[in-house]
Amino acid sequence: MDRKNLRQQLLESYPVRIELHAHTQPASGCGRVPGDQVAKNYKAAGYDAVVITNHFSRGTLIDYYQPSCKAESIEKYLADYYLAKRTGDDIGLKVFLGAEIRFEKTGGNDYLLYGMDEALIDAAFDYIDATPQEFYTRGKDPRTLFIQAHPFRDDMTQLPPEFLDGFEVFNMHPGHNPRIALAERYANEKHISLKTIGTDYHYTGYENLCAARFPALPEDSFELAEMIRSGDFIGEIGDSLIIL
Ligand SMILES: [Zn+2]
Ligand SMILES: [Zn+2]
Repeated sequence: MDRKNLRQQLLESYPVRIELHAHTQPASGCGRVPGDQVAKNYKAAGYDAVVITNHFSRGTLIDYYQPSCKAESIEKYLADYYLAKRTGDDIGLKVFLGAEIRFEKTGGNDYLLYGMDEALIDAAFDYIDATPQEFYTRGKDPRTLFIQAHPFRDDMTQLPPEFLDGFEVFNMHPGHNPRIALAERYANEKHISLKTIGTDYHYTGYENLCAARFPALPEDSFELAEMIRSGDFIGEIGDSLIIL
C-alpha cells in the first residue's frame, strides 16, 4: 500500500479528533482565551471534542480565588468548563471535564486527569496538599486516569511509574521544551505503555494544534478515559503529521 493510502486508511479508522490538553482563562491564570472562545476555535479547526484541563493547584484554586473557601473556589474553577460546554453544546463540539493537578507542597510536576466530574474535582481538592503518590493510591477514583504532563520539561522530575497511568510524551506548548525523544525513550525503558499527546493550549496563534484521534466519539469524560486507557488512538500534529 502506498503512503498516501495508508494515511487515508488511518484517518478513516481514527476519524474523531480530540484535544486532550487545553486551558481557559480565568481558571488558568496563564490562559488567554475564555472557554466559549476555546470551544469555537476548536470547532473551527475541525475538532470533535476538547478536554478542558485547567490548572488545579493551591496557587490557582486557593490564592488566586477565595482563600479558605473551597466551595467558591471550585465553583469558579468549574465555571470555565461550563462556559466552554454550553458553547460546545450550541455549536456541536463535545467538551469534557479534565484537570491538570499540581501538588505544590511536594514539587512542581503537573499531572493530567481524565475521567472526572464535579464530585471528583471536589474530592481532588482535599488532596491538593498531599503527595502525588498519596493521591494515586488513596485519592483517585479508579475510573480516573493519572498522566504525568510533559515529564521532561525543565524542572520536572519523573514520578515512579507504579504511581502513574501514563506519560504525556507529546506536549506541544511552544514556550517549553518537552524533550519528546527523552520522554519516549524513558517511557519505553520503564514500560510506561500509555503515551498521550496534547497541545497544552493557552493562546490563539499556535502554529499547530495536536489531536488525539480516536475510532469513535466518547459520551463523557469517563468513557474518554476508558478509550485513552485502551491505547487505541493515534496522534496528529497539525493537519498532516500522523504519530503512532
Ligand atoms: Zn498554564
Ligand atoms: Zn497545561
